Amino acid sequence: MPEHVVIIGSGPAGWAAAIYASRANLSPLVFEGAETEENRIAGTLPLGQLNLTTEVENYPGFPAGHLHQFLRSALPKDRLDTYLEPLHEHEHAVTGPELMNLMRQQATNFGTKIVTDDVVDVDLSRRPFVLRTLGGETVETHTIIVATGARANYLGLPSEERFKNRGVSACAVCDGALPRFRNKPLVVVGGGDSAVEEATYLTKYASQVHMLMRRDVFRASKIMQDRATSNPKINIHYFRELDEVLGDDKAGVTGIRIRNNQDNSTEELPASGLFLAIGHTPNTAFLKGQVELNDKGYIKFTTLMRTYTSVEGVFAAGDVADDYYRQAITSAGTGCMAALDAERYLAAKGL
Ligand SMILES: Cc1cc2nc3c(=O)[nH]c(=O)nc-3n(C[C@H](O)[C@H](O)[C@H](O)COP(=O)(O)OP(=O)(O)OC[C@H]3O[C@@H](n4cnc5c(N)ncnc54)[C@H](O)[C@@H]3O)c2cc1C
Repeated sequence: MPEHVVIIGSGPAGWAAAIYASRANLSPLVFEGAETEENRIAGTLPLGQLNLTTEVENYPGFPAGHLHQFLRSALPKDRLDTYLEPLHEHEHAVTGPELMNLMRQQATNFGTKIVTDDVVDVDLSRRPFVLRTLGGETVETHTIIVATGARANYLGLPSEERFKNRGVSACAVCDGALPRFRNKPLVVVGGGDSAVEEATYLTKYASQVHMLMRRDVFRASKIMQDRATSNPKINIHYFRELDEVLGDDKAGVTGIRIRNNQDNSTEELPASGLFLAIGHTPNTAFLKGQVELNDKGYIKFTTLMRTYTSVEGVFAAGDVADDYYRQAITSAGTGCMAALDAERYLAAKGL
């Protein structure tokens, strides 16, 4: 028997879709991703991008508090022991891994089926649709919700990896307000619109924001360039590339070494944060040629305020179809919409 709903992906969009679909008695099957070395390096292990971060201060419903007891009562012991760091007794905001395990558990409580594997191939030209996994399993389904997210691009320096979550970030809106960045010099790498947006946002908290630009021209639009050059808190370094993130285990990031790509000279700048704004890569490689994607590889929605894609019965949710908002709450919101769209599609088809 084909599945009614298969959800591919395990971030907030996937789990929100699963909670709605399971409460609608559709017994959704979630492919949460495979626990492979490739996925670890790419940052696409199960539970998505939030699982890679520390405290999440902007997800509604989770003010800082003593979450310890609640987590113990909501999560089974094996998930607590395997997936979460020792629980903190002190007051804190929910962490990314805590929040993602709670979402997964909430979906499980209503009968969601979960397979820890990647979907590597889909055939959307026939009905029911056919999916194939990395492990070689084949599954048929009447509807699919694609919630495979995106991954932030990094430069690939070992020092950048070492200080992730301790000063290195790829999301100013997510992390900019954290205490470690307040009234401190910060650095943004990138010269496009989103780099200027991130830099401008960070000026609310930072004492100064350095922008590193590989050339002497912005890729950003004129209006965004003007915003950067006219902001007294933004200091633009042209022809400069990041050579090394400096810091230590206790303090995290304390500065950066930059290289002048014209004469190869280097200099060090004190900084307590480094924000990468060099784009994201949506996880859509397995969909090429099957679903319409935009020029950046994101899934295209075909109807305003609906999660429909170019293939009837295939819905998209979260960052995989959104290169603009990229937040946990917006992903969960579209995950809910996709489940409701799938439910109505199935009802209309009598499936
Ligand atoms: C360091 C960091 C900190 C952040 N902090 C915040 C914050 O504080 N607040 C906030 O709102 N947002 C934050 N964000 C952004 C937020 O994490 C994302 O917007 C959100 O996670 C997107 O959710 P999603 O469900 O679309 O997919 P993702 O979270 O991207 O998850 C998708 C997952 O699906 C799985 N998957 C991918 N391909 C396949 C496949 N082929 N088969 C099976 N499974 C697959 C993988 O496990 C992948 O990770 C942060 C992001 C980062 C990187």
